[in-house]
Amino acid sequence: MKIICIGRNYVEHIHELNNEVPDEPVIFQKPDTALLRENAPFFIPEFTQEVHYEVELVVKIKKMGKCIPVQFACNYYDEISLGIDFTARDLQAKLKSKGLPWEKAKGFDHSAVIGPFLPKTSFNLNDLNFRLEKNGTIVQQGNTQQMINSIDQIISHVSEYFTLKVGDYIYTGTPSGVGPVAPDDTLVGFIEDKEMFQFKVQ
Ligand code: MG
Repeated sequence: MKIICIGRNYVEHIHELNNEVPDEPVIFQKPDTALLRENAPFFIPEFTQEVHYEVELVVKIKKMGKCIPVQFACNYYDEISLGIDFTARDLQAKLKSKGLPWEKAKGFDHSAVIGPFLPKTSFNLNDLNFRLEKNGTIVQQGNTQQMINSIDQIISHVSEYFTLKVGDYIYTGTPSGVGPVAPDDTLVGFIEDKEMFQFKVQ
């Protein structure tokens, strides 16, 4: 399986990092070794002094497809979850300044937290709230209405370049409020009022 991530999909988050609003989705990937499941603790890697959380809605692909038209994209996923796209922000800044790929800052081991997948029919995907709490304080809140590219538009665009296969995950971008984690932090993610993950940072 592959893990495809969308960058810069929420305007306020783009502004907080002083990036430009892209004219098409920004795409990168993480290897399957990035996954961190079942509320396992996240260990801050030694190569970074600044790991940021980015809470994101995640969709799981259920059908193989390529060049999927937007109007049919809804047939390619039945389940959604919530995850974190952990980012070594200091390393990313260094790589960006040299015009180099982000992989090391984005795809390192356990950089892709994922919760359980739930049927999309449990939710209104056109008006879906999600949030991240750090040590009991809300640090990020998003709603699917704030997405520059909808889930269906993302699937359509991504599938022009990469054949989507059963079991692939797509992280759909983070809203504003990203920030650093430190040892002993507790991160809890919610879709609406449903707790999707809770784990410690070490
Ligand atoms: Mg992200």
